[in-house]
Amino acid sequence: MKIGTKVIHAGIEPDPSTGAIMTPIYQTSTYVQAEPGKHKGYEYARTQNPTRNALEKNLAALENGTNAICFGSGLAAMDAILKLLNPGDEIISTNDLYGGSYRLMTKIYARYGIKSHFVSMNDPSSLKKHINENTKLIWIETPTNPMLNIVDITKVCKIAKQHNVLTCVDNTFASPYLQTPLDMGADLVLHSATKYLGGHSDVVLGAVVVKSDELAEKLHFIQNASGAIPGPQDCFLILRGIKTLHIRVERACKNAKQVAKFLQTHPKTKNVYYPGFKTHPNHKIAKKQMRDFGGMVSFDLQDDSFKMAKKVLSNTKYFSLAESLGGVESLIGHPASMTHASIPKAERLKVGLTDSLIRLSVGIEDIDDLLEDLEQALTNI
Ligand SMILES: *Cc1c(COP(=O)(O)O)cnc(C)c1O
Repeated sequence: MKIGTKVIHAGIEPDPSTGAIMTPIYQTSTYVQAEPGKHKGYEYARTQNPTRNALEKNLAALENGTNAICFGSGLAAMDAILKLLNPGDEIISTNDLYGGSYRLMTKIYARYGIKSHFVSMNDPSSLKKHINENTKLIWIETPTNPMLNIVDITKVCKIAKQHNVLTCVDNTFASPYLQTPLDMGADLVLHSATKYLGGHSDVVLGAVVVKSDELAEKLHFIQNASGAIPGPQDCFLILRGIKTLHIRVERACKNAKQVAKFLQTHPKTKNVYYPGFKTHPNHKIAKKQMRDFGGMVSFDLQDDSFKMAKKVLSNTKYFSLAESLGGVESLIGHPASMTHASIPKAERLKVGLTDSLIRLSVGIEDIDDLLEDLEQALTNI
């Protein structure tokens, strides 16, 4: 089955009791048993819920995995993955990543004796020097946030395998429409389904997808023991969002390409970060491992200051100033004062995250309106 069919059909059956074509929201906490232990596979809703199961089957199919496990948020899903580790274990992670992921590793898991190292994965072969006998997990985010670097998933996974280290790819920015990391050797895929999978900025949910029953069993155990499950209504909303994933992401990529080109030639902008440019340092890898270049574009200004960036942010009318990404509506953000405010300025500047850096999540509105909006926002600063 191809992805455009999977999004609609994979794991979805008409409701057996009524024939309802849409997966029902099983809003129940428990299930009646005929006699103790005699039931239809459902005992208690922390452990199993049919709406959640349908979403999990769908996500497993989208990522070419065998099992998916859904959680109350992307970070709850990541938390379950980190609980696979033991005190003394170490993580190697991309150094340009989602702030919440960084916080979970450094502020929570570090206290339980799990150390994280943040490195550039632009050259995967340099990873070897960071791996030691305690390394148990390599954490990859690609495209990275907000600089939109691309990590060669196949190469990193190959090195990890040689050292018996698990790899997890945070596939939130790309979505399974653009890349399927399990096919490139990853052991785990993480999603903040809040973003492209849901796609309508109306729900927070997370998921892990794996291709090994052993890992799935461990994660199910952790989920049931720790309890960070999503509610059935939220699962329904993600299922509904996924049905249009392919056309939404396709359109967002198309719009982003035009936005990137427009920004590149605008006199008020300086650097434009977009993996679809031939001049982007990782363009070849992006072309190899992704179907298209994504809906995210970052740029900074000739007049590099917070003040100028803030003017642009308040000038746009279709690009709403907000955190998050991947919805049908375009969003604009300022990493230095929003998502990456806790990172010291010197550290930020090393990766190109300047005071005026602006991140766009390009939505699926009409491109003419989006370009006109950016034009007036930049001209009037
Ligand atoms: C939003 C996000 C997360 C966290 O997901 P939540 O659903 O907000 O908990 C993790 N990784 C990336 C890349 C994200 O954008």
